[in-house]
Amino acid sequence: MYNFYPKKRFGQNFLKNKDLLKKISELKNFENKSILEIGPGKGALTEYLLKKKPKKLLAIEKDEELKPFLVNIQNKYPEILKIIFQDALTYDYSKIEDKKIFLVANLPYHIATTLVIKWLRYIKKFESIIVMVQREVADRLSAKVSTKFYGRTSVLVQLHSNVKKIFDVSPENFHPKPKVDSSIIELTPKSNLNFNYENIDELLKICFAQRRKKLKNNLNKISHSDLQKIINSGVDLNLRPQNISIDSYLMMSKLLF
Ligand code: SAM
Repeated sequence: MYNFYPKKRFGQNFLKNKDLLKKISELKNFENKSILEIGPGKGALTEYLLKKKPKKLLAIEKDEELKPFLVNIQNKYPEILKIIFQDALTYDYSKIEDKKIFLVANLPYHIATTLVIKWLRYIKKFESIIVMVQREVADRLSAKVSTKFYGRTSVLVQLHSNVKKIFDVSPENFHPKPKVDSSIIELTPKSNLNFNYENIDELLKICFAQRRKKLKNNLNKISHSDLQKIINSGVDLNLRPQNISIDSYLMMSKLLF
């Protein structure tokens, strides 16, 4: 239809498998619900989502060269589809008026983790977040304590949400083919978010500064009395950061700040 060459710098790997697009659009009942789609691209997933009769669909796309494809779809669904050409990294999500919105996206790989971390601040707005990411990112976000991929992002994300890997997707399903495998994950917001984001984030940066070191070495700049508080709470400072549970991090952040 239009001459368009996918751009690497925008992580443009378009989904071409129609069965898979249909499967994603059927993961939830979107009828009469609001959807936010990040990076609609040429609108392949957008069209499948629109077939599910959502109340509205807001799509945020950075590449304005994709306008002709998206305007075409918009003409078919003028009341429902709204497209904003903007960088999803700088978009102000507090502007979203809906009480609860589904976020659905096949994310550009290079910014997927940054976007997910950004959305944590607005987690209460989301009914759930269903995103395609690089498989390794999915492994990291869903990693359990004392496993290979468990780290700062696993703790941050799982403090805010329950993370579930839904299924893996191989490179053949995209054009152009990415070099990595992908996974669809779902983040379901937790209802009890009783913590201070900045405090826990700062603590995690300190604790995971050197993954292979024991906690007591990473915490060597904090005062003796604070260290004592942690020991008294039952946390073993001889463990490495990947062996400390999410609940223990939460407790430590409340003790220290
Ligand atoms: N949803 C389409 C699909 O499944 O075929 C495209 C997915 S492609 C992996 C990622 C999309 O995100 C591209 O359309 C790309 O232009 C867009 N994108 C890249 N960086 C972005 C950003 N910072 N903000 C919004 N969209 C972005």
